[in-house]
Order: sequence, then structure tokens, then C-alpha cells
Amino acid sequence: MIVEKGVNVYDVAVIGAGINGCSVAHFLTKIGKKVALFDKESIAAGGSGAAGAFISPKFSKGGELKELIEKSYLFSLDFYAQNFPSFLKKAPLLHIAKEEFDAKKLRAFKENTTLGIAKTPLHVSQILTKEAQQNENVYLLSGGIVDAQGVCRAMAEGSDIFEYEVKNLVWQDGYYEVGDIKAKEVVLAYGAYEPIIQEPYINLRGIWGHRIDIKTSTRTEVTMHHHVSISKCEDGNMAIGATHNVHYHPQKNAEPYDINEGRAELLNKANLTIELKNVEILKDYTGLRSGSNDYLPLIGRMVENKNSADEPSYYPNLTMINGVGGYGFVLAPYIAKQLCDFIVDGKEVDAFLMPLRFYKRYRKGLSKGR
Ligand SMILES: Cc1cc2nc3c(=O)[nH]c(=O)nc-3n(C[C@H](O)[C@H](O)[C@H](O)COP(=O)(O)OP(=O)(O)OC[C@H]3O[C@@H](n4cnc5c(N)ncnc54)[C@H](O)[C@@H]3O)c2cc1C
Repeated sequence: MIVEKGVNVYDVAVIGAGINGCSVAHFLTKIGKKVALFDKESIAAGGSGAAGAFISPKFSKGGELKELIEKSYLFSLDFYAQNFPSFLKKAPLLHIAKEEFDAKKLRAFKENTTLGIAKTPLHVSQILTKEAQQNENVYLLSGGIVDAQGVCRAMAEGSDIFEYEVKNLVWQDGYYEVGDIKAKEVVLAYGAYEPIIQEPYINLRGIWGHRIDIKTSTRTEVTMHHHVSISKCEDGNMAIGATHNVHYHPQKNAEPYDINEGRAELLNKANLTIELKNVEILKDYTGLRSGSNDYLPLIGRMVENKNSADEPSYYPNLTMINGVGGYGFVLAPYIAKQLCDFIVDGKEVDAFLMPLRFYKRYRKGLSKGR
């Protein structure tokens, strides 16, 4: 086709510049693809900008989600260390069970895991509260925290950035028209926001979260996960997060979010793990995570639901990456790499992560209801 003069043509347009969109943009630009990265506000303006960005595995017995997160955890730690070392703060990681139900999961985790578990050092146990000391725990030497906004910006560097809200996509003559540009492929990475393409089989929900940065005279050399996550604190600054609130949504609730209630919840929970002294709150961060019904991410081709067809029919050159819940900074590099390998080389992504799985369940539900 003839491309009009003055219209920029891209290999890929990525819509949404959170950790998912920025990871996709990073892998594509690294191999020389021309990428247009769209965000209705700015880079990491959504859930990604709010994240404490703790990089940790899932401490459970087993299952697809646990295995995926463990692979992603190893991949991401190495990925950030190799490519963006200045945005990664490494620290040992102490995970403490909240109650007996959690303790059982932790014991099963310890029996099955290949991650290097170390004995919890005495100096670490000694700073814990009595309750935290008594509970089952796992101590891993490898763990980390990423500077969420910094790493997203660094990953987006090779792309052209458009601060523009994409409202619709027009597919014409082998290209998508997105705003003023054209692209051969589009990747939807818009997190918990209003979908640009509405499909009945995709149900993602927003889970509101609040975290804080504080100044404190309490010192800890390890990152802790107990009732909330607490970062290591060497210079007096500590990150605490995050709350999980499925009842609050900034666009749906009439009442504004009560920031003081959130702060109190975070500090109360953190004080169940270690005693925080001389606390000053430096900054609040809030945002939505986007979660799927089976808690697994969605990556790969978008199926177009057609009433007459049980065989899937796909939108041309359109993929998505979403539904990473509270593990976006752990999962994104690993799953974005899979998605890019599909876009560039046609290598299929893991079947259990494809949007197709929800389409099949949706069609099955419809046929049962007939
Ligand atoms: C408080 C909090 C703490 C968290 N802590 C951690 C943690 O410790 N570790 C961890 O791994 N994860 C954590 N998470 C989860 C992590 O932040 C999310 O999994 C991740 O941000 C999801 O990234 P995303 O790219 O899918 O979505 P987002 O970051 O929300 O990005 C979507 C982007 O799309 C843009 N957009 C939406 N619609 C359009 C449109 N029509 N046109 C153009 N742009 C559009 C938005 O402006 C937004 O920037 C936390 C989340 C929160 C809220």
C-alpha cells in the first residue's frame, strides 16, 4: 500500500506505558523494531508508578501461577541486574507466615523449591516483634526492589512516546491507524483501565492499592513480607506496601479514597513485623492492579468473539499483555519476552497464558446455557 506523506509508520504500536507496555517496547526496540509507545498520561502513570516493585516469588505449595512467578522471579532479577542495574536494589528477603494456614503453605514451599533457602540469621530474627519471631518463615538471599518509575522510563527509551489517549483502532490495508500514526502490529497493555476493545470473554478487575515511603530511625538490612511488605532501610528511607482493596475504585466510588485510613492500615500492619520508630510519612502512592479470574496473566493474540463461530477467529496483528495482578514487576520482563518472540518469530506463547483460554470457557458456558 502507498503510505501518505507525513504519516509515520511503525512496526509496533504499544498502548499503555506501564511495566507491561514498557517491557514489550524494550524487547522490540532492542532488536531494531520501530515502536510507538502510547500513554494517555505519561510513562508509569498508572498502577506501575504506584508499585513498591518488590521482586519476590510466590510462597505457595505449587500450581501454574506459583511456577510461572518463580520462573519470572529468577528471570526478572537477572534481567534487571544485567540491563538496568542502577534501578535495582538487592536485598535478602524474609517471608513470614501470617497464621497457620500460611505456615502450612510455607512448609510445603520449602520442601519443593529449588530456590536457595538460607537459615534466618539471628540478627534478623532479633529485630522482629514477638509475634513475627514465632511464625514460620523463609529466608532467601536473593531478592530485590526496583525503582518502578525509573525502570519504566529507561525501558521506554528506544521508543517514540505519544502522550495520547487511544480511543479506537482502525485496521485498514494491512495497518492499524492509531492516532496520527500507522502500525503493522498493536499490543494492548492498558492495565486496569477502560478497554479499547470490549470482548465479553475478558474480565479483568481493578484491585486498588496504597503504599507509602517513610522516614524512620528503625534499620533493617532485609526486605520483609508479612502482613505487608517492608523494604530494607539503610539510609532512613523505607517503602511499605501495599493494601489490597477490592471495594474501592477511583472511577466507580462516589466517596474519595481515605488516605489516612490507608496510612494507618499500612503502619499498623508493618508494626506487627518490626517496631517502627520516629516515623514520618514522605509520600503516598495509589493505583489499580489488574487481575484476571484465574489470577494468571493474559498474553497473546486477541480472539474476536463472533456469535456464529466456535472456532476462534483472531483480530489481525493484535495482541495483549495484562492481568499481572500484584506481581507486575516480577512477571512483565518474562512474559513480555514471550510476547515479543511471538510477534517477531511466530513462536507461540504458553497456552495457559493465552486469552484464548477465556474465550473457550466463555463459548462453553454459552453452549451449556443454550
Ligand atoms: C500500590 C501498589 C503496589 C504494588 N506493588 C508491587 C510490587 O511490590 N511488586 C510487583 O511486582 N507489583 C506490584 N504492584 C503491581 C504492579 O504495579 C502492576 O502489576 C503493574 O503496574 C501492572 O502494569 P500494567 O502495565 O499492566 O498497568 P499500568 O501500570 O496501570 O499501565 C497501564 C497504562 O496504560 C495507560 N492507558 C490506559 N488506557 C489508555 C488508553 N486508552 N490510551 C493510552 N494509554 C492508556 C495508563 O495511563 C497506564 O499508564 C503494585 C501495584 C500497586 C497499585
